[in-house]
Amino acid sequence: MEQPSEELKERLAHIRFELQSASGGKYPPPRLICVTKTHPVEEILPLQQLSIREIGENRVQEIREKEDSLDGKFKIHLIGRLQTNKVKYIINSVCLIQSLDRMDLALEINRQALKHNLVMPCLVQVSPAGEPQKGGIAVSELHDFLLQIAPLPGIRVKGLMAVMPNLGPCEELENLFKFMRARFDALRDEALPGIDMEELSMGMSGDYLYAARHGATMVRIGSALLGPRSAAHPV
Ligand SMILES: *Cc1c(COP(=O)(O)O)cnc(C)c1O
Repeated sequence: MEQPSEELKERLAHIRFELQSASGGKYPPPRLICVTKTHPVEEILPLQQLSIREIGENRVQEIREKEDSLDGKFKIHLIGRLQTNKVKYIINSVCLIQSLDRMDLALEINRQALKHNLVMPCLVQVSPAGEPQKGGIAVSELHDFLLQIAPLPGIRVKGLMAVMPNLGPCEELENLFKFMRARFDALRDEALPGIDMEELSMGMSGDYLYAARHGATMVRIGSALLGPRSAAHPV
């Protein structure tokens, strides 16, 4: 297997250091989910040697193409919009569906999970800035949605995921992270039956410092670690 490049090692060390210092002892540093979408398997396999065990992919087709060659070496998180008719293809391949954001999808995940005799861990994707094109339910609908999913025996909600708007570093963006953590804490305190509030997935290459500062438990980092995505694979 290829060795990870020195450049990759340096980027990773830098990101891990920054996550650690930004969380500042107030929160544990978030877990790093390395977003490998558009990157070929040959680039992904060396990540094992850097103790990266969890990767994020956003397309069902791409997961299907890569999973045999990845040979179970990584846990795969589904982080992209999921079409209902494609749930069946990934129900056995991913460790966590981070993009659960509507009831018809919940019902299909539940149905496929029961069929495969498993309970699928999911995060409910929230849209903190109300950007429907990015997926995610409105914050105002979150509570009711959780109550609706909680009884489904094939789904276990493990927490929340958010995709933030591309604002660039600014107070408004930082406030959205703060706000998400506050919602997460409030829901955790409420302890809804059938819902675990353990994971808060937020923060990407451009804003993971804010995420770490405001209590993300996972950040999803692609380009800051692996470099820019190839133009042949726009996302
Ligand atoms: C692509 C993607 C990421 C990672 O984006 P980078 O800016 O490359 O770190 C994180 N989350 C989701 C949902 C994505 O689609």
